[in-house]
Amino acid sequence: MTVATTCPYCGVGCGVLARANADGSVHVEGDPQHQANHGRLCVKGSALGETVDLHGRLLHPMLRSPDGTLQSAGWDEALDRVAAGFQRVIERHGPDAVAFYVSGQLLTEDYYVVNKLAKGYLGTANIDTNSRLCMSSAVAGHKRAFGEDVVPGCYEDLELAELIVLVGSNTAWCHPIVYQRIAKAKEGSRPPRLVVIDPRHTATCESADLHLPVKPGTDVWLFNGLMAFLFQHGAMDARFVEAHTAGFAQALAAAQADAGDPAEVARICGVQLADLLNFYRWFARCERTVTLFSQGVNQSSSGTDKVNSIINCHLLTGRIGKPGMGPFSLTGQPNAMGGREVGGLANMLAAHLELENPAHRQLVQSFWQSPRMAERQGLKAVDLFEAVAAGRIKALWIMATNPVVSLPDADRVKQALARCEWVVSSDIVAQTDTNAFAHVLLPALGWGEKNGTVTNSERRISRQRAFLPAPGEARADWRIVCDVAQRLGFAQGFQFEDVHEVFAEHARLTACCNHESHPDTRRLLNLEALAKLDRHAYDRLQPVQWPVAIDAKGEARLFADGRFSHADGRARFIATAARLPLNAADREYPLVLNTGRVRDQWHTMTRTGKAPRLSGHSPEPFVDMHPHDALRCGVREGELARVQSRWGAMVARVKHGGGVLAGNVFVPIHWNDQFASDARVGGVVNPVVDPVSGEPEFKHTPVRVEPFPVR
Ligand code: SF4
Repeated sequence: MTVATTCPYCGVGCGVLARANADGSVHVEGDPQHQANHGRLCVKGSALGETVDLHGRLLHPMLRSPDGTLQSAGWDEALDRVAAGFQRVIERHGPDAVAFYVSGQLLTEDYYVVNKLAKGYLGTANIDTNSRLCMSSAVAGHKRAFGEDVVPGCYEDLELAELIVLVGSNTAWCHPIVYQRIAKAKEGSRPPRLVVIDPRHTATCESADLHLPVKPGTDVWLFNGLMAFLFQHGAMDARFVEAHTAGFAQALAAAQADAGDPAEVARICGVQLADLLNFYRWFARCERTVTLFSQGVNQSSSGTDKVNSIINCHLLTGRIGKPGMGPFSLTGQPNAMGGREVGGLANMLAAHLELENPAHRQLVQSFWQSPRMAERQGLKAVDLFEAVAAGRIKALWIMATNPVVSLPDADRVKQALARCEWVVSSDIVAQTDTNAFAHVLLPALGWGEKNGTVTNSERRISRQRAFLPAPGEARADWRIVCDVAQRLGFAQGFQFEDVHEVFAEHARLTACCNHESHPDTRRLLNLEALAKLDRHAYDRLQPVQWPVAIDAKGEARLFADGRFSHADGRARFIATAARLPLNAADREYPLVLNTGRVRDQWHTMTRTGKAPRLSGHSPEPFVDMHPHDALRCGVREGELARVQSRWGAMVARVKHGGGVLAGNVFVPIHWNDQFASDARVGGVVNPVVDPVSGEPEFKHTPVRVEPFPVR
């Protein structure tokens, strides 16, 4: 039987038609009915069928023996042990001594249940997600500007735009179907102009009308300069600014102070003045402008300010919420947005409510009928693992993620896990760099086996549906959490029969926030119409963009009426002061390391690494560098080199031709110690984070490159 489901990789959220064949193979093709991809799939999506075999799968609960070996155990024993470990730590040290580190790979229902357990029952907000690493700066920027974490537009806007600006995004490789939609629009009768702003000349630049190779970290200068230019050249929508925004004068003053002179902006950003002015003029002229941004903006110590400097330009021109225009955050993971909807970050509550707002806490607690509520923000990802290293967090449950590979300063993460009293890992894979430190391994269902919902970058909720049987003893993540919650003594609150009941409760909570008796909790995130779905209708749910308050049609664009989610209904300009990354290159570490994805791999390769045709594109880790820098460092293309920072080192093969500027190097994030020792770039990356969002600065670590072995 063919099942309509959703790709588990990037935030484009493509619809997939999948079928298990009698010979054990799996056929996948793009779903022509799904609005995100209209039948297209990229190379990763089309290879999904090659990644679902059971080789290397974790199929049974495993307990670590005192001698360090893992022994298979029954579910009851494993769940008892997990609950007892958490109970022991809470009794001795309080609820903030336990933590959860979860993942944008989880489904919304999984996320909902684990957040409910942590925040509403255990009473700790120490629950954060690997989505912190990819889009939390966009979340913080949205909340500052709009009053809520909202992407205002939709993918269709790309086909309606006159100008598309891609900032810090190798869209062609990292969000390929979005790129294909842009490329198709460029072949049409009214092709949009495409501007790519990126220090690297990536594959995305092939379709660009203009590439601005900005120096890493200078984006706020660029967009403050744009704001000043737009104001000076009469491109401001004064009526919109007056009627629907606040904070304009301060933001403009900050922009003019930093970046009032385009020649100076061009010098700071390292681009040609003529190119900069072309971009500014195009932006000023083109009413229908979409600005897409991704990790190159978010993964920065000034990521939130970068996001707001972009949004400021859209507010100034009133280009938001209408067809073909708006700022647009491209999320990295398939359910980064769904996780946020249910409070998946340490500083949030479910339904986009604020953890530190007493009225919001009270609403959620009374809805949950829960015994206690966390009252202050929990620790964000980097700080959370630092607290583990410092011994303040003594029990940690990791779900569907591999922080020993993916976090910055990853050797420190290793040390943290090695000293942690109680580490639990739910995963589909038996052996990962992280699982090596777990005391208990719990087998979870993977893509094709699990049921639930995900939300893509354009707020579109889609179903992931099972078409394969559960392998071994694997269980759904939400069910594992409920089983542990009941063993922790929470008989009420976790008695869900199936995933539909979890979704219905989540949807009812969003409706409750919008109830007349709670005027201060109104949110655009409203799934009231979906709360009424019965099991059968939930199973057949078609992709829909929230809010879905009245009927199940959803809304493509938000803010068309100029009403935002701040209490006064006005959007906020944010005064953004440009600043350089905290750690600058110096004589000892003269190059700047940038990290990111390659076209055919996903995260730490636990799934894409199984498909030989995906490994053909980039078979091993590499350090891409300018030939002049390679010469200076004494390394040659094709040779191994060591990339060394103040935090750690890794080894990779030298490569040229990836479009890096002199003075920079690029290393992909995917490889890990299962591939080869010293293959993790996470060990090299500095742990600096954005002070507002807590997102790490993956795009800027000073390093040196030297021959390997070191001569
Ligand atoms: Fe999957 Fe993203 Fe490719 Fe679509 S673009 S098929 S969601 S990896």
